[in-house]
Amino acid sequence: MSTLRFHAIKESLAYKPVVINEKERRSDLFGKHVFNQNAMRQYLTKDAFLGVENAIKYGKKIDRKIADQVASSMKDWALSKGATHYTHWFQPLTGSTAEKHDAFFETIGNGLAIEKFEGGQLVQQEPDASSFPNGGIRNTFEARGYTAWDPTSPAFIYETTLCIPTIFVAYTGEALDYKTPLLRALHAVDDAATAVCKYFDKNVKKVTSSLGWEQEYFLIDKMLAASRPDITLTGRTLLGHSSAKGQQLDDHYFGSIPSRALNFMRELETECMLLGIPVKTRHNEVAPNQFELAPIFEEANLAVDHNSLLMDIMGRVASRHNFKVLLHEKPFAGVNGSGKHNNWSLSTDTGINLLAPGKTPMSNLQFLTFFINTIKAVHKHEALLRAAIASASNDHRLGANEAPPAIISVFIGEQLTKVLEELEGVTKGKLSPQEKTELKLNVVGKIPDVFLDNTDRNRTSPFAFTGNKFEFRAVGSLANCGNPMTVLNTIVAKQLKDFKLEVDELIDKKDLKKDEAVFNVLREYIKSTKAILFEGNGYGEAWEKEAKKRGLSNNKTTPEALKAKISKESIALFEEMNVMSKIETEARYEIEIEAYIMHIQIESRVLGDIARNHIVPTAVKYQNILIENVKGLKAIFDKKFSSVSKEQISLIEDISNHIEGINSNVTKMIEARKNANNISDVEQKAHAYCNHVKSLFDDIRYHCDKLELLVDDEIWPLTKYRELLFTR
Ligand code: ADP
Ligand code: MG
Repeated sequence: MSTLRFHAIKESLAYKPVVINEKERRSDLFGKHVFNQNAMRQYLTKDAFLGVENAIKYGKKIDRKIADQVASSMKDWALSKGATHYTHWFQPLTGSTAEKHDAFFETIGNGLAIEKFEGGQLVQQEPDASSFPNGGIRNTFEARGYTAWDPTSPAFIYETTLCIPTIFVAYTGEALDYKTPLLRALHAVDDAATAVCKYFDKNVKKVTSSLGWEQEYFLIDKMLAASRPDITLTGRTLLGHSSAKGQQLDDHYFGSIPSRALNFMRELETECMLLGIPVKTRHNEVAPNQFELAPIFEEANLAVDHNSLLMDIMGRVASRHNFKVLLHEKPFAGVNGSGKHNNWSLSTDTGINLLAPGKTPMSNLQFLTFFINTIKAVHKHEALLRAAIASASNDHRLGANEAPPAIISVFIGEQLTKVLEELEGVTKGKLSPQEKTELKLNVVGKIPDVFLDNTDRNRTSPFAFTGNKFEFRAVGSLANCGNPMTVLNTIVAKQLKDFKLEVDELIDKKDLKKDEAVFNVLREYIKSTKAILFEGNGYGEAWEKEAKKRGLSNNKTTPEALKAKISKESIALFEEMNVMSKIETEARYEIEIEAYIMHIQIESRVLGDIARNHIVPTAVKYQNILIENVKGLKAIFDKKFSSVSKEQISLIEDISNHIEGINSNVTKMIEARKNANNISDVEQKAHAYCNHVKSLFDDIRYHCDKLELLVDDEIWPLTKYRELLFTR
């Protein structure tokens, strides 16, 4: 082992875990740093409390006087908790969160100072929009942007700063963040779903979308991670031979959690409790040093905020435990990557989960309505849903035989498949009394029993029904859930809207009863959405062929997948549902495709550098040792020389071949990069990066990894896979 690597490992092993004392009950800690209902009741006047509540429940505007009262109380609360600063906290399209801290502190002349925070500062701020990704919106309009308070997500204190969740929009109103379109999509799905609910229960006034994410991640020793330029700059290893032992023995999944990792988790969970993030589950994942954290599900906007916040604080807490968290979807070749299942469902203000079967035939018909409409929405917009999870990093995972394929399909289980088959046979038009009774008793009425054994363990499905929710599994671990949640809620909203029009038409024009009309429309949906339903192995080649026959898209790379975002249909969809204007949709496409280019460009540079200035010089050094050895052999053995030096000479040749392999491919890659950089059209440029630059990564890596096996371990400069994955 090289001295450098040895010292890094020594230091890592000598690290004394921070011992976490959990004295207080978690339920007592929960939400202590959140300006939640409790805090509001205590600090707000009655008027202010009602104002905020109306804003949360019904989206009512908060007037300036009330905002002043809220700000002043929020400040008092924050100061009582030791806060010194406040910030508008938002989620620009960089993928991380953003904040700019201002002190409450103000001078008032005569050497005096006070703490001050007013409604104006709570409601609106103006960060410079031109330094955030804006996808050309700044070219066409003003560069200015502003952040605006989102009262539906409560303010919280993190490390002595009061953070106010906000949206981020251009001065001309275009969204520049993940939250704005999400809020609009949630509004759209509320409207559409509430209207449909009224067929079944007139009392429903609001439908809420819920999200429960499951965050997977790797924990790597900080020192070891820092010794790798690829991890430091790209969040993943670009090369490295796989360790002799990886995950073959299945001895990590659900194993006992290593104590240093557990201490990290306990501190992280304590922070989460204080911030009101209801984390509940923790466990070892499949790959060595891979873990998962999952909360209790929440309203989707809050859940997205909480996941973004979590990803940020994970990094900070990890650092205190001398860890680096890797959220990248594929940090290591040859072992599993990380995803972030998005469990999604809709529920009413009357307390009904619309994706859970109920107790009566009527409530089950309601369940089937939402269930089938979701399937229909996914079928219609499968390519757009794929686009919502596209990124350079998630490309490594989708279709890589360990994660859902790049083909979107829906898994519903054997028993619901049977229910759909029976509903497909429902008579067209009016139903006879016997048929109605039969449906009530034997089809719709039997659904609750279905779920007792409907446990889906088909982990190859990207979109699976799991008893009382759909699980969108293709989302990447690094993703902001706002993007997939915006798309999913928008397509379901649109579908429910269309469904209602169809049902109403049957009621008005064909004189059908409400449930007859519902059955009639659902029957046609079942017939027309069969192509999206798939129960088999999503990893198999057979499925790729079958999916193609069914007309499903299979966009394996981000540049291919993103196109669906700006199709005529998608633009029209977002416009119709008031989620994004054409300008906003196009801007987002541009931002994402540019991000793709940048990521591949950075990876390409890092890989080229490491290959040329770490690997090749090391290989040459070792080759020289071999050459010296051969020279010595020649001096000692005269006649027997060729037999005693055969292996060394072949090694010398092998090394030369690999060096040649590296150098010629790196040269090719640099050339391809130059060519790509000269392309002005972003779409073509992304394709060039994907097909001509990135395509050389594997060849370069192949030669580097071979050299890792040949070269003396003593002089190998890069921390090896076994050291990264098994040092605990
Ligand atoms: P697993 O997927 O590991 O089998 P569960 O099915 O129990 O685990 O739940 C996984 C996640 O789904 C959890 O984060 C949970 O909060 C979330 N979840 C459960 N019910 C719902 C729901 N109705 N809507 C959204 N998420 C939900
Ligand atoms: Mg899951």
